[in-house]
Amino acid sequence: MKYISTRGNAPELTFEEVLLTGLAADGGLYVPKEVPTFSAEEIASWRDLPYTELAHKVLYPFVEGCVDSAALKTMLDEVYSGFGHKAVAPLQQIDHNEYVLELFQGPTLAFKDFALQLLGRLLDYVLERRHEKVVIMGATSGDTGSAAIEGTKACRNVDIFILHPHGKVSDVQRRQMTTVVGDNIHNIAIEGNFDDAQDMVKASFGDQSFLRGERKLVAVNSINWARIMAQIVYYFYSALNLGAPERAVAYSVPTGNFGDIFAGYMAKKMGLPIEQLIIATNSNDVLHRFMSKNQYEVRPLKHTITPSMDIAVSSNFERLLFDLYDHDGPALAELMARMNAKQDIVTLDEDKLAKARELFDSQAVDENETIATMQQVYDETGYLLDPHTAVGVKAARDCRRNQQIPMITLGTAHPVKFEEAVKRAGFDVPALPHHLADLMEREEKLDVLPAELATVQGFIAEKTFHD
Ligand SMILES: *Cc1c(COP(=O)(O)O)cnc(C)c1O
Repeated sequence: MKYISTRGNAPELTFEEVLLTGLAADGGLYVPKEVPTFSAEEIASWRDLPYTELAHKVLYPFVEGCVDSAALKTMLDEVYSGFGHKAVAPLQQIDHNEYVLELFQGPTLAFKDFALQLLGRLLDYVLERRHEKVVIMGATSGDTGSAAIEGTKACRNVDIFILHPHGKVSDVQRRQMTTVVGDNIHNIAIEGNFDDAQDMVKASFGDQSFLRGERKLVAVNSINWARIMAQIVYYFYSALNLGAPERAVAYSVPTGNFGDIFAGYMAKKMGLPIEQLIIATNSNDVLHRFMSKNQYEVRPLKHTITPSMDIAVSSNFERLLFDLYDHDGPALAELMARMNAKQDIVTLDEDKLAKARELFDSQAVDENETIATMQQVYDETGYLLDPHTAVGVKAARDCRRNQQIPMITLGTAHPVKFEEAVKRAGFDVPALPHHLADLMEREEKLDVLPAELATVQGFIAEKTFHD
């Protein structure tokens, strides 16, 4: 499988190269040159497969030529046997024909484990073969950092540095990062806000000369194709469990960077009968405003009770636009320049918008509606949703087109991670799952650094100088 840039002016890469690259050289994102497709008969023949075997069927075409089939199988077995539920991605029914897909059974209790656990293994596998080592650098306000740390803690060829804003991450989320021990793991608390941390990461990717030796930075945010890829599997798994491919299914996806929902769109392109895909956003609703009004306008970030969806710009949307533009890289490069010039309101040609609306519905859900949905579902079923999942359920109920088709909301996190919202909804915070029961007693390891690029880069260079 070869990968191409959405802006049409960067070299084609293999899976291995894409895995080790962040943005393409032309500023675009990498996508598969041809999407593998499966017939209904083939998909039907996978109905009885457990999660890891299904994952192998779905993922192997994307990595073929770079990752050996047996090695992929071993990695998948290792990753998903570490999840806290034997079904890996169990379905929870919340009403007639309505479900939550529980994607929070992994080590850090959010769906990001599905991809980042696998990413860590894939990185180590290719780096071992290349006799190379890399540095992961990322900024987080929560879920990504802990999932990336858990995913790479056993990697022999990866040092990981995760920056978070000092004092501005919840205790559970911080401890999920700072209590993981390993010589290759470094938590940096920046004396500043999330944007300061993010800016330092961006600047470091732009000029990597501060790194010693042959080291390079690797991105673990969802611009990395391997993350999207791993997330395609649970769409197949849940749809097959509900009668696909004979029966169609629908999904509502709590969305920030458009990564998780893009994986659903990929599953549909690969042959899964997905009748409806709903983009569910919080009040950071750039995508919903765009879909409903054909106005793409970047607005300042709002902090909400669903922090993992707090984004101003939705980076993976470019991957969809690439399809809407029939893979015309130069035209897309021009469009992206206008979209990123934040003063502008950008509109799409009507035919392209019509195509987008055929593929997706959208809804923005505010904090009061989120809280009310948590309460409503609890009253109806006794099941407590995390606030992000509640955004998805609300959008699912408002936008549903066909009651006969099973509606599945992606359950993106466990409610225990989002204490503020749970309390606001009037519930007690649930107990931590068994494997994290002593999280609040574990020893923490972190370094507090000023929000100065040179200091942070000097720290990283020094700590990676052990090879
Ligand atoms: C990351 C995250 C999201 C948003 O996912 P995207 O792929 O960025 O759209 C939603 N909910 C939770 C709990 C998350 O951690």
